[in-house]
Amino acid sequence: MDCTILVNRTHLLEKDYIPPLLVEPSILFDAPLKDKRRLLSLPAARAVHLLFQSGRNQGIFLYGISGYRPYDRQKEIYDKRLRESSPDYVNLLIAPPGASEHQTGLALDVSCQDIDFSLENEFATTKEGQWLAANAPLFGFVVRYPKGKESVTGYAWEPWHIRYVTKSLSLYLTMTGLTLEEYYTHPSG
Ligand SMILES: [Zn+2]
Repeated sequence: MDCTILVNRTHLLEKDYIPPLLVEPSILFDAPLKDKRRLLSLPAARAVHLLFQSGRNQGIFLYGISGYRPYDRQKEIYDKRLRESSPDYVNLLIAPPGASEHQTGLALDVSCQDIDFSLENEFATTKEGQWLAANAPLFGFVVRYPKGKESVTGYAWEPWHIRYVTKSLSLYLTMTGLTLEEYYTHPSG
């Protein structure tokens, strides 16, 4: 699979797209055993194992919360939120089915014990969140929805959502400050 694939509200995955090699990385999780959310595509699974292991060696304990999410599950989540809130609000926070990076198996939501394993902006203030933001690019990941890029990515700031893009691209995006959307619009920076 192409680990640099762009998936967003205008670049949708097919309903029946399933990543070829889904495996459970050997990392700490706060997620039910056997659940699909513990799965990642093989290249992302290998990389996140090294990333979290490097953290652990420095006393940083990161937990996987949610990785792979099938199309149908995304549709359930999206439809449920639409019944509860206005479409504009839901659309800033939740990807419509086919528009979620979690369907690629390359994205992982990460949290830590200090904030009870929640997915909140507060994660960015924890030592785990700060370590993750600084070190994820060294292992091929980017924090995909940065603060200040909401109008480019189409998503609210999500300090907990990391996306595997390969090490050469994660370093490039980090040095240039580009999001994946901007990279595909102006690849030369
Ligand atoms: Zn996410």
